[in-house]
Amino acid sequence: MSPPLKRSGVGDMPFSQTSLLVVQPTPFCNIDCSYCYLPDRSSKKRLSFELAQVIFRKLLRFPTVRELVTVVWHAGEPLVLPVKYYEQMFQLIKDLSPPGLHVRHSFQTNGTLISDAWCELIQKWNINIGVSIDGPAELHDLHRKQRNGAGSFNLTHEGLRRLQRAGIPFHVISVLTVESMAKLEQMLDFYVDNAIEYICFNIEEQEGLNSRSRFVNSAAADARYRSFLERFLDLSFQRQQPVLVREVESSMRAIQGHGAEIRNEQAEPFRIISVDSDGNVSTFSPELLGLKHERYDFCFGNLRDLEFEQIAARVMESSLYADIGAGLQQCASTCAYYGVCGGGAPANKIFENGSAASTETVHCRSLMRSVDVVLDLIDRLPPDLSTRWVAHQTQGASSAAPLHPIF
Ligand code: SF4
Repeated sequence: MSPPLKRSGVGDMPFSQTSLLVVQPTPFCNIDCSYCYLPDRSSKKRLSFELAQVIFRKLLRFPTVRELVTVVWHAGEPLVLPVKYYEQMFQLIKDLSPPGLHVRHSFQTNGTLISDAWCELIQKWNINIGVSIDGPAELHDLHRKQRNGAGSFNLTHEGLRRLQRAGIPFHVISVLTVESMAKLEQMLDFYVDNAIEYICFNIEEQEGLNSRSRFVNSAAADARYRSFLERFLDLSFQRQQPVLVREVESSMRAIQGHGAEIRNEQAEPFRIISVDSDGNVSTFSPELLGLKHERYDFCFGNLRDLEFEQIAARVMESSLYADIGAGLQQCASTCAYYGVCGGGAPANKIFENGSAASTETVHCRSLMRSVDVVLDLIDRLPPDLSTRWVAHQTQGASSAAPLHPIF
């Protein structure tokens, strides 16, 4: 049995350093994916500069925000706002940053609006980019639709091309569905043909508005994911077309670090802080902000009214915090993968199992299968090849990799 996870911010212990600020500049998205969990994606409201002054003046001086922090602009399509909006916003944040704090910016985008002007902004501010694309057109367009019902592939693909022409590194996030797992050759061809260097696979999940994922409670889907990843990696070997896959990299790091202190950023208060365009604030899994649940309140107040200490007191007194802790204890005492997982994502536990005080989810079973596939592959490969492959997957030097494992 693994030891229970060490949690920060309990009793006299200080909170750990914040690694990620997820900021929603607008809830609006210009497309309408069938599996999207965002409840407010038709609203065109935006984070005003007046409110941004208030928010960042406080956030950047939270005791947990120090040395280095990544700001991800997300939860709506960030590029629906004009380039000049971000010019002004990035400058505002720079002006408000205390000495010694380095702020990095990141966009998670559907890629449909990337223009040369965006490429210039991305280069000027050295922004990390993640583009959501689900593979070739016939797979991408099944779920990632424009608001008029047409597929969005051509627009996203043109966005990728612009980034590449400008020499901007990026990673892609591909949502794996039943259909895409059945087409692994086409998926690998797509990444290789388009010179995509770094891939993050997200399994279609049951969260927020997407309450009907076809993967929930399905042993067959579990086996399908394992088989997909295994054959995807094998094929990339056979063809000598190595690709970097986040799930492989993170499994490898977890295996290598097994036995060290277990950390789970989504289970610790303030490691991840999420703020919406009205100034409402949340912590733990970033997708919780804006979602509703009969058992929990995910919003811990508004940054217009509250200071860090007041927000922290609300978090620590919340049933969400207590249940996340109970869930970690259950994971620690029942799951053989706890030592590499650290207890999973509270958002997935809540929306699949009804409570954060629970264990297995689709998301964590994909992590288990990724670990299985990596261990098996290391065993199967000749030692010299295995060593080279491990080194390649964990090189950590790819400028295309996400700044944070979640995005
Ligand atoms: S793999 Fe799932 S059940 Fe196991 S520790 Fe992680 S979240 Fe808990």
